[in-house]
Amino acid sequence: MTNLDEFGLPEPTQYPPMPKAKSMMPDANPCPFCGRHINPNDNDTLYPAGIGWKEEDGIRSYCDIYDVPKEQWCYKIICNESYGGCGVTMYGDSPEETLEKWNKRS
Ligand SMILES: [Zn+2]
Repeated sequence: MTNLDEFGLPEPTQYPPMPKAKSMMPDANPCPFCGRHINPNDNDTLYPAGIGWKEEDGIRSYCDIYDVPKEQWCYKIICNESYGGCGVTMYGDSPEETLEKWNKRS
């Protein structure tokens, strides 16, 4: 047995904590097109779409993701082809809204 302390290795707790990507999402319904189960907590299934939204005078418009805070990012949910899915994609103005749309459709 080797005592790791002898080598002066840092304790694992010294590593920076993982960034909190998003809060835990409730379960998603199976894909409306191919029936595949998707996991909305998977970062390749539900993730930022690369655009943001902003509202001026009650009119919502879409803009660059860097122009708005994280709360105003658009998200997409995808039945990921790399997991054997059909590739269908839906968009929303938040992770929750995106999942809600998905669940309504399925
Ligand atoms: Zn599918």
